Order: sequence, then structure tokens, then C-alpha cells
Amino acid sequence: MEELGFEPGPAFARRLDAKDDLASFREAFIMAEPDLIYLDGNSLGRLPYRTVEQVHKAVEEQWGRELVRGWNAGWYQAPTRVGEKIAQLVGAGPDQVVVSDSTSVNLFKLTIGALTMRPGRDRIVGDVLNFPSDLYILQGCIRLLGDRHHLHMAPSEDGITVEHQALSDIIDERTALVTLSHVTFKSSFLYEAAAVTERAHQVGALVLWDLSHSVGAVPVELDRWGVDLAVGCTYKYLNGGPGAPAFLYVRSDLQEVAISPIWGWFGQRSPFDFDLEYEPTEGVTRFLVGTPPILSLLAMESALDLVLEAGIDRIRRKSVRLTSYLIYLVDTVLVRFGFVLGSPREPTRRGSHVSIRHPEGYRINRALIEEMGVLPDFREPDNIRLGLAPLYTSFFEVWEAVDRIRRVVEEERYLRYPAKRLPVT
Ligand SMILES: *Cc1c(COP(=O)(O)O)cnc(C)c1O
Repeated sequence: MEELGFEPGPAFARRLDAKDDLASFREAFIMAEPDLIYLDGNSLGRLPYRTVEQVHKAVEEQWGRELVRGWNAGWYQAPTRVGEKIAQLVGAGPDQVVVSDSTSVNLFKLTIGALTMRPGRDRIVGDVLNFPSDLYILQGCIRLLGDRHHLHMAPSEDGITVEHQALSDIIDERTALVTLSHVTFKSSFLYEAAAVTERAHQVGALVLWDLSHSVGAVPVELDRWGVDLAVGCTYKYLNGGPGAPAFLYVRSDLQEVAISPIWGWFGQRSPFDFDLEYEPTEGVTRFLVGTPPILSLLAMESALDLVLEAGIDRIRRKSVRLTSYLIYLVDTVLVRFGFVLGSPREPTRRGSHVSIRHPEGYRINRALIEEMGVLPDFREPDNIRLGLAPLYTSFFEVWEAVDRIRRVVEEERYLRYPAKRLPVT
């Protein structure tokens, strides 16, 4: 990696923007409030212009005109067609990725699929940094299967990273499944996925990666790493829109043995024979369930195309620059106001968001949103998450955001806000 010699001041940020080979992609997105610094693309990506157009077409021309004929004019194949596009971003060869349901539901389906492939084993290995919904799903799976499994969580000494050794130590011959977020939602810690996958396979365990915070931001090589199963979200760095359907990956050789716990007609071998007996399709489509949300799926596809055009390597390169520059500014500007970095310093160990921690984090975040035109999000107990989306976040915005954060604290603007949490933070 090149040496990143950063300099203070907004002029330097402008110079970084002038050299940014992805700068033009910003114009592909609607900037309804030009002065708003949006730093939550890791929670909900911005809206591309082409998606507005695509939704309009899908509604008026397809639904409005084609009516039910739409199913034979591309809708029926949409989950696999869009799955193949996502496959390019996660290093998956053909026929292993489909778009389906939400990330949580896909995690449920693949977890049950994995546990039934390892009937003699009673352990699931996770970590304490995982997204709570993922842990809830695992707890629910355990209950559903009669409390025969135990969830073992790898600890985190610093609340930011998980030591590979600490994780390896709890993976053993009793482990059926290792399941983790590739990039953790709070600290942005990026796992060495190849090494973890290899460790799990040494003892015959399966691996299921949640790619929600990595797809579209960090290169992923599912086939090359030998990953068994994966799920991920499309409304974060893929900009698919609120509630856009998620994806799932099942490695080719597991598709014949993996069983979905939800048998629906979209996973049936020939659904329009209306056979009374369920017989799963041969491929990954057996993990489909029912009618997909076509409008959301088509909207997401148009946004996804933008990511494919930019290319994951260029995206990653800019992402590393953005997060490194932000950390430089945290060190040089914000540390003296009581902020502490809540993400890994090593660029190869972090995703595309950076958490900064402050005892008054919640109220600072409120002030940023209410009066400073900065939109990050807050994660308990004291993390302000700053999501940097390489397709539309500029270096100048990073500089300006840090300056506005400084002002909130230096001018004590946060004191005007209650510490009581709003329902959605
Ligand atoms: C965003 C995210 C999800 C989202 O799940 P939904 O089912 O779409 O609500 C799940 N897991 C992780 C790790 C996430 O980051």
C-alpha cells in the first residue's frame, strides 16, 4: 500500500478529490440537500438517479402494461439474474448466488441448512461483535432444534477486534458452524476470512459469512477462500433502497445436500406443475421461498450496476484512502476533545466505516443531525459511526464533517440535547 502522507486543512481535501478517479460517480446520485454530509451509507445507501428511472419503468411499463405477463418477461428470472451480478462482487462462480428475502431470513435458512448438514455436532461459534439480529437468529435456531446446540462467542479484548487465536481456540470437532460478520457493524473490524474459513475446515466445521457490511466496499473471494455459505444485505453499500431484498450464497457442492427449512414453490423443481409433493430444485434456487419483491429487486439491480461499473478494486482503494484520511483527522483534530478511535488502525483490518467514541457520543450525534447538517448514526454505548461510501463521499466532506464535529464539542452545542435515546438512533 502506498504511503499516505496527509496534510491538515481543506485545500488538501480538495486536492485528494481532484485526484479521485471515482469522483464522477457522485453525480449519479440524487443530492436533495446539497449541504448535507451523509455519512450513513453503511446503513442506507443514497438513491441513484437511474433507480428513479428504473422504478418508474418497472411500475408503469412492466406492472402497468405487462401485468401478469411480466413473470415471463424477466421477473421470474430476476432473483438469479441479479444474483449473478452480485456474484461478481463476492468472488462467486455461476449458479451459487440468489437474491431472496431479508438478510435475517437468509441467515436463518442457511443456519438451519448448515446444522442439518452436521448432525453429530452441537456447537455454533460466533463472536461478541456480531450484529445482534444475527445472534437472535442463531438463538432462535437453537431453540427451534430443541436446545441441542450451544452458541460459543469469541471474546473481544478491546471491543474493536477479535484475535484470530481466541477464535481458533473455540473452534473444534464439536463445532458444526462458524458464523461471523465479515466486517463488524460497530467497530468495522474486517476478519481474515480465508484464515478463519481454513481453520473451521480443519476440524470439519462449516462457515457462514454475513457480508452485509463488506459487499460493495471490500473485495470478497468466496470461491477462492472455500467458503461454504454466505448472506448479505443490498441496501447498504449497494444502494438498493430501504428493504431491498438480500442475497445468499451456497457453494456448488453443498447445494445437493443443504436443506432449506422453508419449502416454498419458488424452491420447487417445477412450480407450475402444481405437484402436491415438494421436491427441491437442484441448485441454489432451492433456497428461494415465495414471490420475490420484484419492484424492490429491479430498483436494487439498477443501483448495483453502478457498483459493478466502478469496480470493487477502485472502490476499495478509495475506501482505504477515505477511512485513513478520516483517522488522520481524528488523531490531529478530535482526540484533544475527548474522542477515541473505535475502529482498527490497520487499513487491511477495517471496512468502510469508522467509529469514533466519546462519553457524550449520543448527544454529539444528535447535534450533528439537528443543526450541523451531518448525518452519521449512533451505536451504543458511545460510538458515532461515520460511514464513507466511496461512490459518493468526497474527501472534502470528510474534512468538513470532522470540522463540524469539532465545533459541536468546542462550542458545547451538544449540551442542548437530552441524553434520552430516540427510538431509532
Ligand atoms: C444490516 C445487517 C443486517 C440486516 O438484516 P435485515 O434482515 O435486512 O434487517 C443483518 N446482519 C448484519 C451483519 C447487518 O449488518
